[in-house]
Amino acid sequence: MQPPDTSAPARGTKTSTPVPLRTPSFAHVSQLAELIAEARQYPQGVSRADLSETLTLGRNAVDRRLKTAVELGLLSPAGRGVSTGGRAPEMWRFNPSAATILVLSISYRSSTASLTDLSGAILDRVSWEEGILSDPQTVTRHALEHLTALRDRHPELPPTWGVGACIPTAVDFRDGSLIAPATARTGGASDTLSWTGFPLRSRLAQALGLPVWVDDEVNVLALAAAKRIGAPQDLLYVRLSLGLGMGIVSRGQVHRGAAAASGEIAHIQMTGSGGRACRCGRKGCLETTLSGGAMEEAAVTPQALKRSSYLRRLDESGGIRCEHVFRGAAEGDPVCMRLLTEAADRLSVVLAVLTTTYNPGEVVLGGGVAEAGEFFSRAVGQALRRRVLPATSERLRVRMGNEDDALAGACRMVTDRLLSAHVMHVWLSHGSPVGVQELLTHRRQDA
Ligand SMILES: [Zn+2]
Repeated sequence: MQPPDTSAPARGTKTSTPVPLRTPSFAHVSQLAELIAEARQYPQGVSRADLSETLTLGRNAVDRRLKTAVELGLLSPAGRGVSTGGRAPEMWRFNPSAATILVLSISYRSSTASLTDLSGAILDRVSWEEGILSDPQTVTRHALEHLTALRDRHPELPPTWGVGACIPTAVDFRDGSLIAPATARTGGASDTLSWTGFPLRSRLAQALGLPVWVDDEVNVLALAAAKRIGAPQDLLYVRLSLGLGMGIVSRGQVHRGAAAASGEIAHIQMTGSGGRACRCGRKGCLETTLSGGAMEEAAVTPQALKRSSYLRRLDESGGIRCEHVFRGAAEGDPVCMRLLTEAADRLSVVLAVLTTTYNPGEVVLGGGVAEAGEFFSRAVGQALRRRVLPATSERLRVRMGNEDDALAGACRMVTDRLLSAHVMHVWLSHGSPVGVQELLTHRRQDA
């Protein structure tokens, strides 16, 4: 067996001067990737013996992979563990400070750029009022300005290894191309159509000189939920913002479906051909009665305004947005609470079918509605339990997501790819992914 390991420049190396090193075999990179992935699950640290047992690797192999991971800065010593008789074992943990990631979350009317560590902890961020309802060229130009500024204003931080972007529209994950919602493809008009086919991934990669991964916002939200310590292997993530969407995690993996359209619940026609006109060009879609957009319409009716001094004040000071309704419910405004209770009931109809079919361990409610707080998860949980058998609901937890789930999930998407065996095999001999041309020009983002 040939010596498998490569030495690498110390972490924090800002230059990307390639160090001529032999590329280790794919089998060795696979073991390294598995070892790092295993350590990521134990923030308190993991011992050599545990790694050896879990990965079914000999102690020598574990030692060599550990040495490489430490040289890369990706693992660091975590003190001593609990003794089981002899000397307390040395522990190792994933080091999220080895590099930084740039994250871009494009929402409906706003976007956020942020700089995170490898675990998704936000080191700096900036948000601005512009999203998928605006022109893609302009949004991307501003996004690049913000991402570049974030990187430039932190020379003290370790180098940036990659970029994760998410957007509330379907994405073909194989190459990161943006595709129209299923309904728009069948002839309806959609306000996200101008983004269809827009080369977001290559624009970002060329301008920033970094590898970029792009996915549908619902998928990165679902990924963020799935990677929480102790999260169930099967879960649903409902995003309720201006629009409605759902991400699905099955056996710990994001489920995308045959045409990247899984979880596209917004445009299920609920009322035959009647009902309100939808942005997809049809009538009576679920989103016309269950979405932030539908709540905004309901919040400006004379009846709602009369009964809520909270909404009346907002209406006078420049218009009501769904975020106001979410916040109003958290603050106990009765009209906002009623709007969300009605939304919870409508959502429970769809969730009853999905949870009965799929039997997830968790339903997470996030997107803009995260601001509504526990009130909303309680309402959805109660409505759902009324509609399904105890067998479906007894192990089902309904919880609120976090406001930063999109950023955390987009970061996770990038680190999962960068630290996968296939991608590590490309950059390992360079010591870091920085400046590795093959990562910038690679068309496939799922390989
Ligand atoms: Zn529709």
